[in-house]
Amino acid sequence: MARVAVVTGGTRGIGEAISLALKEAGITVAANYAGNDEKAAAFTERTGIKAYKWDVGDFDACAAGVAQVEAELGPVDIVVNNAGITRDGTILKMTRDMWEDVIRINLGGCFNMAHAVFPGMRTRKWGRIVNIGSINGQAGQYGQVNYAAAKSGIHGFTKALAQEGARFGVTVNAIAPGYIDTDMVAAVPTDVLEKIVAKIPVGRLGQAHEIARAVAFLCAEEGGFVTGSTLSINGGQHMY
Ligand code: NDP
Repeated sequence: MARVAVVTGGTRGIGEAISLALKEAGITVAANYAGNDEKAAAFTERTGIKAYKWDVGDFDACAAGVAQVEAELGPVDIVVNNAGITRDGTILKMTRDMWEDVIRINLGGCFNMAHAVFPGMRTRKWGRIVNIGSINGQAGQYGQVNYAAAKSGIHGFTKALAQEGARFGVTVNAIAPGYIDTDMVAAVPTDVLEKIVAKIPVGRLGQAHEIARAVAFLCAEEGGFVTGSTLSINGGQHMY
């Protein structure tokens, strides 16, 4: 029977490319999203992949979402924690809500989803969890103490959970993308983006499918000896 994957934030941007790459690998995919029903419906029409709405920052909603996917598609073997948001501002301008939203969704979402699927993976002795971190969690970024802290936390979370999963055939890895051409990066002011691209040795933004292919490898049978790793995919911008 085909493996079942949940891709959080799987209906657009990097997540859409991941959903498609896993589908191409013969995996049954459930693409989660937060609230953009129109984009989710268009995604399902384009790809044939079913979309499921819940907030990954909500512990109970993740448990209920996973239960729904399992009832409809079967036990979840793979989770890609890709959902993420930015709420940028220097610390003087950053409100407590901006801090808490980013930590709750980006980092809390990884915990909430892993907590929902880990017991089943452990019992079945097979699982793949891939967490999408960021270059800005490795190197820091001006105006992003919330995002950098959340993404850096993801990298620590990955290494700790990898130790818990290893004996049970559950691998846990992270990918740290550099700047990828999606809606999130489109929100960066042009002059700032030009300065960023000038610092990328390959001289361009990354493409979502360049992240997705790496996720597909980590989720495959052949990825079973890779665990606790963070793979940087950033055009050489930060050699970590
Ligand atoms: P986008 O903003 O293009 O898409 C974000 C996706 O996450 C959407 O599907 C959105 O759903 C979903 N989402 C947001 N909040 C929640 C939530 N609370 N619950 C469930 N789903 C949610 O992002 P990208 O594709 O650019 O980024 C994907 C991941 O990659 C993020 O974790 C980001 O931090 C990381 N990243 C991105 C980089 C880049 O350059 N783009 C660089 C490094 C890391 P909806 O459509 O309903 O809003």
